[in-house]
Amino acid sequence: MYGFLLKKNRDYIPWIDPEVVWRTHIPMNVKFFFSSFVWERLLTVDNLIARGIDMPNSCVLCNNHGESMKHLFFQCPTSLLVWNSLLSHLGMMDEIMDNNGAGDFLCKWPSLNNRGLSAAIWDIIPYTVIWILWRTRNTIVFDNGVFALDEVVRRIKCTLWNWLDIIGKEVDVKENKGIAVLFDDWEEVVRDNW
Ligand SMILES: [Zn+2]
Repeated sequence: MYGFLLKKNRDYIPWIDPEVVWRTHIPMNVKFFFSSFVWERLLTVDNLIARGIDMPNSCVLCNNHGESMKHLFFQCPTSLLVWNSLLSHLGMMDEIMDNNGAGDFLCKWPSLNNRGLSAAIWDIIPYTVIWILWRTRNTIVFDNGVFALDEVVRRIKCTLWNWLDIIGKEVDVKENKGIAVLFDDWEEVVRDNW
């Protein structure tokens, strides 16, 4: 049904090699989602309108702006609360949020001097946050959900922990720790050791 909406815009070139998504240690259904993400083809309201669907455009997270991928994930004050609660202690929020679009954001995700659990977590944080923001947005649009910051952050940390099992098939990245480390010692796990 939505096939006609998903045709590639032939003038658009992703900011990131789409293959990067397929090499990342995330679930297969999430790889498909990010494949659309890097081509900027998610069915956000602005993209639906651009394809001829007549509907009002409002971001359900803030109700104060039109919905586009750039707004929803990187500029919406509600989404920024989520990013802030996870990353503000690193002091590089402005750099991270300054991007030319979805693929560019993934491309410019900074490297930290980290190893083991910290490195594995850091690599999948952008994918996890964007995935959970999209799921949260969909719950509000389709299931009368509400946004609750603590719950969204909790879901992100639980998802991060679960997804570690994907890379964990190759290396024991959890280092015999439990998920509590993400709740009790987040700033110790997510830090730059320079
Ligand atoms: Zn918004």
